[in-house]
Amino acid sequence: MVNYKDLGLVNTREMFAKAVDGGYAIPAFNFNNMEQLQAIIKACAETKSPVILQVSSGARKYANQTLLRYMAEGAVEYAKELGWEHPQICLHLDHGDTFELCKSCVDFGFSSVMIDGSSLPYEENIALTKKVVEYAHQFDVTVEAELGVLAGVEDDVVAEESHYTKPEEVIDFATRTGCDSLAISIGTSHGAYKFKPEQCTRDPQTGKLVPPPLAFDVLEEVEKKLPGFPIVLHGSSSVPQEYVDIINTHGGNLPDAVGIPEDQLRKAAKSAVCKINIDSDSRLAFTAAVRKVFVEKPGEFDPRKYCGPARDEMTKLYKHKIIEVLGSDGKAE
Ligand SMILES: [Zn+2]
Repeated sequence: MVNYKDLGLVNTREMFAKAVDGGYAIPAFNFNNMEQLQAIIKACAETKSPVILQVSSGARKYANQTLLRYMAEGAVEYAKELGWEHPQICLHLDHGDTFELCKSCVDFGFSSVMIDGSSLPYEENIALTKKVVEYAHQFDVTVEAELGVLAGVEDDVVAEESHYTKPEEVIDFATRTGCDSLAISIGTSHGAYKFKPEQCTRDPQTGKLVPPPLAFDVLEEVEKKLPGFPIVLHGSSSVPQEYVDIINTHGGNLPDAVGIPEDQLRKAAKSAVCKINIDSDSRLAFTAAVRKVFVEKPGEFDPRKYCGPARDEMTKLYKHKIIEVLGSDGKAE
């Protein structure tokens, strides 16, 4: 048994309370490798932003859960070395699907876990979530739950169609499970293809897809039912067109990739939404930078010469999100 507090990590309770009061959102960035983690920590240290490091099932398979946990421990020390006196770093399991997995993460030094029972019938989702909460809270580990279904593909999480969260269920769900935060479905979606072209309109000038707006009416209803309760948005990458263009002009092929416009995320961050998950955008930044090096310097074969620029591009992206979209800069001095 390892307690996250001994590793210098924090749970989400205080960061969410401050974010709800302050009208901003905490970035939740997924990480799978060293360069990505370095970029996240550098961006957060330079902007003094609290951060949630997320480990998905795909990340655990790719990089090994043990190694990722030690990397997160290293991240706390790295942050201090960068001059961030009191780093606010949470290590979070993204989309846990069983009690056993959540328990193993709690026992192993994670400070927060998500139990995603959203694909289960309502009562089963409640029972599973409650079981995880009862275990995790003994160790002051916070728990995120999900109600409603997001469309899209994220590692092992696949859903064809989204189902908006039903606001009439949230009080009952939050009360009976005791969860600390709730991921809801209001039209965000996993992956770099968040909407089918037929769901979008096309900008007549550029020919680019314009996605449908998020269901802010559902969010407002949820906020009314649970005032001040931390709400989470998954699948909130914006799929920056400049990265898609670099990829497509440097040998890639991402037709009609489309994400959530940043002005909508900015609006959400000011509401009860206090955690916004961003994964695909950093994948795009990484890939765009690597493809550029491969095309411009075909003789290059030192991975540091293309992973380095990829890391710089991700750092730039993370800082942009923190300062321009989420408003979490300066919130963890
Ligand atoms: Zn997700």
